[in-house]
Amino acid sequence: MTTMRLGEVEIIRVVEIPRSTYPTSDMLPTSDAAAIARHRAGWLGAFYDASTGDLGSRIQSYVVRTPHETVVIDTCVGNDKARENPLWNMRQGTWLDDLRAAGVAPENVDYVLCTHMHVDHVGWNTSREHGRWVPTFPRATYVFVGEEWEFWNHERESGRDHDGCIDDSVLPIVEAGRARLVDATTAIGNHLRFEPTPGHTPGHACVRLTTGAGTAVFSGDLMHRVVQVAEPQWSSRFCYDGAQAAKTRHAFVERHADSGTLVCAAHFPTPGYVVKADGGYRFEASR
Ligand SMILES: [Zn+2]
Repeated sequence: MTTMRLGEVEIIRVVEIPRSTYPTSDMLPTSDAAAIARHRAGWLGAFYDASTGDLGSRIQSYVVRTPHETVVIDTCVGNDKARENPLWNMRQGTWLDDLRAAGVAPENVDYVLCTHMHVDHVGWNTSREHGRWVPTFPRATYVFVGEEWEFWNHERESGRDHDGCIDDSVLPIVEAGRARLVDATTAIGNHLRFEPTPGHTPGHACVRLTTGAGTAVFSGDLMHRVVQVAEPQWSSRFCYDGAQAAKTRHAFVERHADSGTLVCAAHFPTPGYVVKADGGYRFEASR
């Protein structure tokens, strides 16, 4: 758990799982081992995990606490959920306790935002109580991009909700009347706004935080591995539209290079900054 501060706003990072099931070469099927090795010998080396020998990866959430609101962005895999991935199946993790330890009580969360509706971003939306899936954050408004919900609800109705995550982690929120469906440019409170970043999923959206002391962007799965900052043309195996994802990523990297915007990616091992270097781009960890 790490806490950062931008002026009057606190950003808390809560890691659920400190590694990935997928090696980088699997996650980025069009990646090139020689190019990765070149980056690793230079700037990229700092982002490797000793325990796996691979580029660091996390499943994590960010909490944004402003003077007026507490907002959870993306809710990881969750507990007690039947999943195909053995690392994710029927988990009994400590994410919720870790959130409480950071001073974030579930009943005090005002908004839950999901950048998209993949299984590792919606899990803690709900918890199992007396055999039913109920909202983990009982007072919160869950804000979903309408286009994303419509796409995945249609998949679910067509029998393609592969891991059942729409059924057990999104639908119960909609049925409980806790969901607010918005377009991908909507503001939430005084500091946050969705921004459309399609490709990884049809309704994928980043969340931008604007404060008097700088900006941050919660980029969800726009990038999965730090190396994609330098090689934005490499899309992940889980991208719905890999070509669109690459286009979105290119634009994102260009826009944020040397901008001072703190980039908080859902799966990067650390938040940081996109910087220009040697005619290209790289990532620099925040301190
Ligand atoms: Zn993800």
